[in-house]
Amino acid sequence: MEGGAEGGGPFGLHNLPWGVFSLPGEAPRVGVRWGEAVVDVEPLLGEMAPGAFTAGSLNPFMALGPSAWHEARSRLIDLLIDARRADEVAAHLLPLDRVHLHLPVEVADYVDFYCSEEHASNLGRIFRPDEEPLKPNWRHLPVGYHGRSGTVAVSGTPVRRPCGQRRGADGPVFGPSARLDLEVEVGFVVGVGSEMGRPVPVSAFADHVFGVVLVNDWSARDIQAWEYVPLGPFLGKSFLTSISPWVVPLEALGTARVPGPPQDPEPLAYLRRGEPWGLDLHLEVELCGQVVSRPPFGGLYWTPDQMLAHMTVNGASLRTGDLFASGTVSGPAADQRGSLIELSWNGAQPVRLADGSRRSFLEDGDTVTISGSAPGPDGAVIGLGSVTGRVEGHSS
Ligand code: CA
Repeated sequence: MEGGAEGGGPFGLHNLPWGVFSLPGEAPRVGVRWGEAVVDVEPLLGEMAPGAFTAGSLNPFMALGPSAWHEARSRLIDLLIDARRADEVAAHLLPLDRVHLHLPVEVADYVDFYCSEEHASNLGRIFRPDEEPLKPNWRHLPVGYHGRSGTVAVSGTPVRRPCGQRRGADGPVFGPSARLDLEVEVGFVVGVGSEMGRPVPVSAFADHVFGVVLVNDWSARDIQAWEYVPLGPFLGKSFLTSISPWVVPLEALGTARVPGPPQDPEPLAYLRRGEPWGLDLHLEVELCGQVVSRPPFGGLYWTPDQMLAHMTVNGASLRTGDLFASGTVSGPAADQRGSLIELSWNGAQPVRLADGSRRSFLEDGDTVTISGSAPGPDGAVIGLGSVTGRVEGHSS
């Protein structure tokens, strides 16, 4: 089976993302995507990390730390290019369309940030047109909140329209959200935990973070708008967060690293960048099969090393499986906005679909797919895969 050797294809040897798969009637176990195949890792690498690859999540492997991640990846690459062992490897390759993909990570704590200046400014302009779009703290720290890890689900999980309270003419009304939205985000998966009371500095980013997933932070804008003042997101967000099934290791993203945009004012010392951890990721949003936006991740104001340093600066510990997401990624152009509330400017400019219909927010039956890629070495493309979901009616 040709897996895209010589770096060809978005899932070639330069990429090799990690996930969890199962065959019918078998327990989920760890796999690596290679081209259009899944490498069954346990028979090939099992002796180097006993038990880690037969788990139903990547957590035991991720807990082993960066040298084990590097060693497993190097050994796998050696195996996949070794012509003498081609038959042995071929015996442990499964066609992608034969396997079922699971949530790759047992999500421990989930944090969602708000790191795109364009997104934060757009929402400020929509909701507070008479004020400065950014709050006074925004350029001093990456704003975030703790979300609900139990409702992080793998791509393909149906999106049940949430019910809740929203503002009515004469007080609150209860019912299914009428303003269901998507949020394009990039998530970072923590492999190595930290001790309570010990902040993780920006310089330790790669000692803790295993890899990257795509995230859709489904959002019920009407529920959110009524509930969140003055505390923050709650039921408008916690009903579902979808992630892509393949975790692209940081090591595969070396070519994609960029410094991140200049920051003015300079952040406080604990947030000052060291190594470049901006990532030149190209994202794409399809609504009902039509591309409606291409948000660029590389221009994100706060970089993920800064997010990690900030979320631990008070001494909060990390655990294996923690997920922190960037917040909605929006670029400066109108077709780079990462949510429908921005794309439709809160309903004032509905998005036109090819079938002539218009969308301000999501309708039942709509499918949203976020995909992404990154530049790899020697002109290769690193595929980030995709996260998809179809909106179903509310549960009564
Ligand atoms: Ca979000």
